[in-house]
Formats: sequence, structure tokens, C-alpha cells
Amino acid sequence: MIDAALRVRLDAIADAVIDGRRIDADAALLLLRHETLTALGTLADLVRRARHTDGVVTYIVDRNINYTNVCNAFCSFCAFYRPPGAADGYVLPLETIEQKIRETYALGGNQILLQGGHNPKLKIDYYEDLFRRLKASFPDLWLHALSPPEIVHVSRASRLPLDETIRRLREAGLDSIPGGGAEILVDEVRRRLARNKCSSDEWLGVMREAHRQGLRSTATMMFGHVETLEDRVTHLGRIRDLQDETGGFTAFICWTYQAENTELGGSAVTAAEYLRTLAVSRIFLDNVDNLQASWVTQGPKLGAASLAFGVNDMGSTMIEENVVSSAGTVHAMDEPAIVAAIRDAGRIPLRRDMTYTRRTAPPA
Ligand code: SF4
Repeated sequence: MIDAALRVRLDAIADAVIDGRRIDADAALLLLRHETLTALGTLADLVRRARHTDGVVTYIVDRNINYTNVCNAFCSFCAFYRPPGAADGYVLPLETIEQKIRETYALGGNQILLQGGHNPKLKIDYYEDLFRRLKASFPDLWLHALSPPEIVHVSRASRLPLDETIRRLREAGLDSIPGGGAEILVDEVRRRLARNKCSSDEWLGVMREAHRQGLRSTATMMFGHVETLEDRVTHLGRIRDLQDETGGFTAFICWTYQAENTELGGSAVTAAEYLRTLAVSRIFLDNVDNLQASWVTQGPKLGAASLAFGVNDMGSTMIEENVVSSAGTVHAMDEPAIVAAIRDAGRIPLRRDMTYTRRTAPPA
């Protein structure tokens, strides 16, 4: 039950959002904690409509390729990795990666999202060689590759400074950086989830340096595990602050922790909790253009519902996904299903690239 004083405060925050004014962290926390789901949806949709006035919802035809599952980070929420030396650890052969790329091209895509574990055997020369070979075979391939923790890992394993690591990866063909591995950018939370992974400052430092060198990236948040609502807002604040500084984030994507087969255990938060957090993200991140649905974790129905909570992008057609599916989440949406969901919501589907430049209408 919301008392009268709180209602007045929430209404004042709503007025600020309607007027296009920035809200602070305290206001975001009040919305997250107390505002109704329908009111949050209305406000987030209003923000979305002000930013994307033509009703277009974009998506991209691309493919996740997890080049290795060997990892020495041992994150407690991860069901994908295998420790070094495990019998079922792998590094994909170049031919396998190339075959997956050919399949992506056959479906009309030219981007791959290349991510993997922190494999202690793979140093920078592996990535330089891989990127150069892929670019030689597929000259217009867009390499959206290596989340910040992977880049920190490569830099440490190769005993190179971060700026030089990014520069060498970029010169070898890296086009943009996925925002994975952020989880929650609060070190106390990260210590409980991913004690061997880079710190919050390091994650932000990779993005700052990548943006400085001209690379664009996405930003993400995985929530609903051990964090508090305050931690979620702190995370959003850190993303917004860096975006004020660099302007390098193209989009924000959040999803809920998937519990199956993980050391951390527990259970996933509700659909309503996902939508509430999504809506507050849209309202708070007033300097990030695009908000993406995470139907891979939330399922196609909730993915479609998220279009009413500030979302203007349906993400990837996701020809292949191995990480969240290892934690028990198996959802599929091909291009016709994504297009149908967008049209059912009364919006206009268009393909895009990583920079969110609109490309073509879906095939007839
Ligand atoms: S989430 Fe990434 S870094 Fe953490 S254990 Fe899994 S593969 Fe390794």
C-alpha cells in the first residue's frame, strides 16, 4: 500500500519523466521499489516513443559463437564453463567457426558475436591470428567480440597493457565489443558471483578505453541473484556516468539470472520483476538510445510483452546460443517469429547492424 506522501513523490518523478528531465538514483530506486507495473510500463513507453518516434523495432541477423568453454574464472552463476584440463573442454577449430559464419551469411547476416571462457592457453596471438583469418575469408564480416572480462584476461595472460591489447585486437579486426560480463557493477556483488573476474572499475575501464579508440559497445546487466535493488540502481548509474563521458554505448540489455545447473542455485525472479527493471532502465538511462529485449532468457512471450516496457530492439535472431541454455533456458525465435511479434505489437520491423544503422525490411 502506497501512503499519500509517497504517492506525491512518485507523481513528481512521473512528471519529471513526462517533461523529459533526468531522474536521479533515489528516484529510480523509488520507482523500482514502489511504482505499479502498469505505471512503469506507461512511463517507459513514453520515453521510448519520444526517442523513436516512427514505431520501428529493429533486430539483427547474427550468430553467437562460443569459441572456447574452458575458463578459470569459475563464476558461481555459470553453467557453461569447463575448468582447464576437463575432458569436455573445447576450443573450436577455425574450420568450424568459418562454417558457422557461412551459415550466418546464408541467412542474411554478416555479424558474429564471438565470446568464450577465460582460457589460460589463449593469448593475444591466438585472437590476432583468428581475427585476421576470419577477415581474410569474409571481408565484410562484423566482429562483435570479447566482453570486457575476456579482454582483461587476454591482457593479463599476454602481459600487455590494456590499451595496447585493445589496439592490437582492433588492428586485427575487432569491430565492436559486447557488454557481457558486467553482471552487477558493484564489487561486493561481483566477489560473491565471480571472484576471479575483473572488477567493476576494470569493466568500465575496458569500455572507456575501447570507446576512446573508436569502438562502440553495448552495456548489459544480469540481475535477480544476490544483489539488492540499490545495487541495480548503482549499476545503472555507473553505465549512465560512463555514457555521459564517452557516448560509446549503442544499447542496453538486461536479463535475469538463470539458476539451473549453477553452483549458486536459487531460482529466477518473476516476469514482473524483469519488466519492472527493464522499464526503470529505460527511464533512467536517458543517454542510451536503444533498449533491447532479452527473449533468449525471458522467452518469446515476455520478449514480445517487453515491447510495451520501453523496448525498441528485439536483439538477435540468435542462430546459436550456448551460455544461458547451459543454465536450463532454451528459447528460440527465428526471423519470422521476431517479425511477427513486432507486427503483432503494431510496430514496424527492420533489420539493423551493430551500430543500430537501419538496414532492410524483413524478407517478404
Ligand atoms: S560467465 Fe564467463 S567468465 Fe564466468 S565462468 Fe562462465 S565462461 Fe567463465
